[in-house]
Amino acid sequence: MLYIVATPIGNLKDITFRAIEVFKSVDLIACEDTRHTKILLDHYGITKPTTSFFQHNRFTKAEYLLGLLKEGKNVALVSDAGTPGILDPGYNLINLAIKNAIELTFIPGPAAFVNALVLSGKPAHEFYFAGFLPNKKISRKNKLKALSGLKCTVICYESSHRILASLEDLADVFGDRQIVVARELTKKFEEVIRSTPQLIQEKLRNSKPRGEFVIVI
Ligand code: SAM
Repeated sequence: MLYIVATPIGNLKDITFRAIEVFKSVDLIACEDTRHTKILLDHYGITKPTTSFFQHNRFTKAEYLLGLLKEGKNVALVSDAGTPGILDPGYNLINLAIKNAIELTFIPGPAAFVNALVLSGKPAHEFYFAGFLPNKKISRKNKLKALSGLKCTVICYESSHRILASLEDLADVFGDRQIVVARELTKKFEEVIRSTPQLIQEKLRNSKPRGEFVIVI
């Protein structure tokens, strides 16, 4: 059985009883970064073998894990934070498992975009999750222009080193639209800023942006 297990996006207490039970019961835990997941496992006194399954070994490691699953082993799949499969290599293993008729289930928990959407106060009955915005300015602006045509709430992920550049492009494309930028969700310095892209950029520039970001438009 493949157990896809959501883990905290910051606060170690955001883990379900079922997730802990699964970690204790499986043969192996496949982690994006074993050192990162060890912090969570140590916190809950879980001593299970772990193996790394990340961007650069995702094809070979997925085949290896498939082999174990076919032998009848139980494997838990986690990402560094949040829900496996949402912008991490989890997708590759999930897809391979389905193609090979491996039994699988999902132990639900945090996903950063859900926290941001709920806290944003924007309509949540219909939304579009756009993942990470492109690195390059021209592609990013084109993407934002395409997103501006949608008639629903739009959510993007962003890193600390690109947030200011993205906000500049958001200001160009969306003007004075009230958007929401959420950072460090569930962590000590969680912050939800509701304003125009330009004013949010000014605020973040002054405090030097740190942490991980979600943009809600
Ligand atoms: N699997 C994760 C999920 O379920 O949300 C997403 C992984 S993606 C590689 C990492 C991005 O998620 C970060 O760059 C950031 O945009 C967002 N993110 C993750 N944790 C966050 C947090 N605590 N606060 C704000 N954004 C977060």
